[in-house]
Amino acid sequence: MTTDCIFCKIVAGEAKAEVVYQDDLVTAFRDTHPVGPTHILIVPNQHITAVSQAEAQHESALGRLFLAARKIAEMEQIQQGGYRLIVNTGPNGGQTVFHLHMHLIGGKRMRYPMG
Ligand code: 5GP
Ligand code: ZN
Repeated sequence: MTTDCIFCKIVAGEAKAEVVYQDDLVTAFRDTHPVGPTHILIVPNQHITAVSQAEAQHESALGRLFLAARKIAEMEQIQQGGYRLIVNTGPNGGQTVFHLHMHLIGGKRMRYPMG
């Protein structure tokens, strides 16, 4: 755990969040500022700052993000309508929390590209 990382604290149960899924590699919780009817963040339990810092040892956790997204989409009943997965990386990518995370957004029709 990295001190002062809010997502590390959520993973450890030391900060409040609405956790919807957790396993040995990843944790998922609702975004505090949802941009759609479903907006969930899925994070590796181990602190990885960003995709730019990912290494081979993180491969299983990074793969698990996608499988968890699929599972949670089914739980949220958005699998049929579809959804969007986003991983913002670095300042130009719009990343504001520097613990790698995947946004799972669904429940409305979206267009690409955006801002
Ligand atoms: P980024 O811009 O880094 O890809 O996304 C960060 C996301 O984390 C934003 O959508 C923001 O609303 C969300 N967020 C920031 N702080 C917290 C927090 O303390 N708890 C939760 N649940 N979401 C947060
Ligand atoms: Zn962290």
